[in-house]
Amino acid sequence: MKEFKAESKRLMELMINSIYTNKEIFLREIISNASDAIDKLHYQSLTDKKMKIKNSDFAIFIKTDKNKRTLTISDNGIGMTKEELETNLGTIAKSGSFDFKENNKKKENIDIIGQFGVGFYSAFMVASKVEVISKAYGSEESYSWSSTGIEGYTIKKSNKENYGTDVILTIKEEEEYNRYLEDYEIKNLIKKYSDYITYPIKMEVTTDKETKLETLNSLVPLWKRNKKDINEEEYNTFYSDKFFDYEKPLSHIHIKAEGTLEYNSLIYIPSHASYDYYTKEYEKGLQLYSNGVLIMEKCADLIPDYFSFCKGVVDSSDLSLNISREMLQQNRVLKTIASNIEKHIKNELINMRDEKREEYLKFWEAFGLQIKAGIYNSYGMDKDKLQDLLMFYSSKENKLITLKEYVANNKEEKDIYYACGSSIDQIKTLPQVEAMISKEKDILLCPNYLDEFVFKTMVKYEDKEFKNVCSENIDIDTEEEKEKLKALNENSKDLLDLMKNEINVESVRFTSKLKNHPVCLSTAGEISVEMEKVMNAMPNNESINAKKILEINNQHPITKKLQELYKKDKEELKKYSKVLYAQARLIEGLPIDNPTEITNLICDLLVK
Ligand code: ADP
Repeated sequence: MKEFKAESKRLMELMINSIYTNKEIFLREIISNASDAIDKLHYQSLTDKKMKIKNSDFAIFIKTDKNKRTLTISDNGIGMTKEELETNLGTIAKSGSFDFKENNKKKENIDIIGQFGVGFYSAFMVASKVEVISKAYGSEESYSWSSTGIEGYTIKKSNKENYGTDVILTIKEEEEYNRYLEDYEIKNLIKKYSDYITYPIKMEVTTDKETKLETLNSLVPLWKRNKKDINEEEYNTFYSDKFFDYEKPLSHIHIKAEGTLEYNSLIYIPSHASYDYYTKEYEKGLQLYSNGVLIMEKCADLIPDYFSFCKGVVDSSDLSLNISREMLQQNRVLKTIASNIEKHIKNELINMRDEKREEYLKFWEAFGLQIKAGIYNSYGMDKDKLQDLLMFYSSKENKLITLKEYVANNKEEKDIYYACGSSIDQIKTLPQVEAMISKEKDILLCPNYLDEFVFKTMVKYEDKEFKNVCSENIDIDTEEEKEKLKALNENSKDLLDLMKNEINVESVRFTSKLKNHPVCLSTAGEISVEMEKVMNAMPNNESINAKKILEINNQHPITKKLQELYKKDKEELKKYSKVLYAQARLIEGLPIDNPTEITNLICDLLVK
């Protein structure tokens, strides 16, 4: 007897002792494996002329035996060699993305079964023994793999006649499992979970008079059926079965294109990002079929990066079967299909945005970052396609709105105002923001590190520029205020220079834009404080410094105090400069280089 790999053991343990109520899904998992195995052989036979296989023979067979308590699922697919039996069934799905240890600690087993297609091992939820007899296509030998649980498995030679695989389950003794030996129950389960399988699923049904094979599935894949004959539940079941996501999708798009280019496609917009979506491991793509035969599991060329969250299938009779990956990229048919699909997805998103805002917000929460990245990564080339999908938090509306809505709500403004920071609440407390809000200005509050980069790449929306309210060129003063301020700054030149020399900034000046706060930090030029933070957090980047300006509130008592000190006590004024600058940095969430000095200075001032 051989031992299972450690994580297989643990998964198996979970399965055997499962309290999962939905145990019946084991049948779907095994049938889906059988169908995959036939797919592989089918594909091979279509591309290799030397192989002589009749397509019409492909099928999955099911047989129950109440006396022996066995349920057998057989296929005439590609089969497994001895080594394949060992690697495929001795270790859990090698997809690698499934960090079982992590998940086991945090979540209930129900979650694990729900989130991932646990595949073959789910058989142990209902079976006390599992035997897999398989003969790989083209091989002379066949082998039997069997296991009664976590102790391990054995592999021995067998004498299976034809290529393919038989999975023989010995159903557990307890009464609750008896249903898996009943033909009508099996029929129901096939209808429920496996109707979309494109090969016939045949069951040996014995009546008093005869034994005959009955085909249980309808054989027309969902995407080829008429939209009006399909209900929501069928669409959703298909989605969860095929893409292993047990949360309902937000939306589906069923395309049946006819005419010069014929294809069927069924695309889903998931309701949440999969655990690996924002990682390098995530592989985008749609399943590609040619006339019902799966030719590629994930065809990346069918979907642009910014819509990479979409799942779905595309089936076209206009694609040849033995097309290679490289040829596919150049393929005109595929390109046309891809661009059509992109339009459909965009339209669906626009439709959700306008007609089902709540769902759109869910979408935005899950995939908004991807849309933003789409604009940024293309250096703005895709901006026209994507900009109306963007959502930002409006300070006036206190909710997420589109850019179009911002413009419509603020017709009198010539710019679009935004402010960045670590959270909506934190941004609201920035002095510049608070002051702008008190003047009834609408500001897009941007807590995401990508937001400002997106605005910088877009430059404008319609004819309005994006303006960071923390930049120096924000202009909301009246002419009179401007004049007054200009005079004050000119008259205080020496004072301001003296302060500037004490701290590391571009300049120091008085401002009238602050409401209650004594100081704020604004920036000159292209790089804002938030951008400085983001860029400096990136690995291997040289350190970048925003050109900072210390602005002092001219209506705040501190202004008077500074003017007095300039006259009476310049040394004291130097200390004040340092403290005020440190204060402005703290408000912006920037570190202080000299915390000991600053805290000592504060204490000096306190004891005065
Ligand atoms: P998954 O199907 O997610 O890869 P499974 O645990 O269900 O994981 O199956 C593991 C592997 O065993 C499959 O990837 C496949 O290579 C192989 N396998 C399972 N059932 C069959 C079958 N009926 N015929 C051929 N290979 C099979």
